[in-house]
Amino acid sequence: MRNTLVLNASYEPMSTVSLQRAVVLVLQEKAVVEQAHPLRMVRATGLAIPVPRVIRLRRYVRVPFRQRAPWSRRGVLARDQHLCAYCGRRATTVDHVQPKSRGGADSWLNTVAACAADNQRKADRTPEQAGMLLLRRPFEPTPEASLMLALGLRAADAGELAAWLPQPAAA
Ligand SMILES: [Zn+2]
Repeated sequence: MRNTLVLNASYEPMSTVSLQRAVVLVLQEKAVVEQAHPLRMVRATGLAIPVPRVIRLRRYVRVPFRQRAPWSRRGVLARDQHLCAYCGRRATTVDHVQPKSRGGADSWLNTVAACAADNQRKADRTPEQAGMLLLRRPFEPTPEASLMLALGLRAADAGELAAWLPQPAAA
């Protein structure tokens, strides 16, 4: 796959992202194109931009992407796209799968987005004890996803754009 290298504002290499995400970062003015493919263009409604090979963030981001993304409630909600892990409806709270009172950690793998009702219903119990099923397993964001989270972009932003982006031609 053709990936785009992302540099921090300080020109320090951070991560690679998919072409779709690179284009989203440029269109949302989070990043500028430092190096583009000389011939290939990506077309959006009303504009065409050269396929970015290297982009640079407009503002310096401190998150150490080569290491693990720091856990945060905001990050968990963004990772789960604000959808409850138990019922799929809109989530505004973060649930500890293994409750904190039972030694559950503030970690990516132990927390999920949950609606207030399900969070309250589950209370200080494990999903098994509460008879509740997790619709999906919690996961640790990839460096690429962490970067999008840190920049305040939802994964869906890239998904929506994927509809009009051409598939990269075979080399
Ligand atoms: Zn729910």
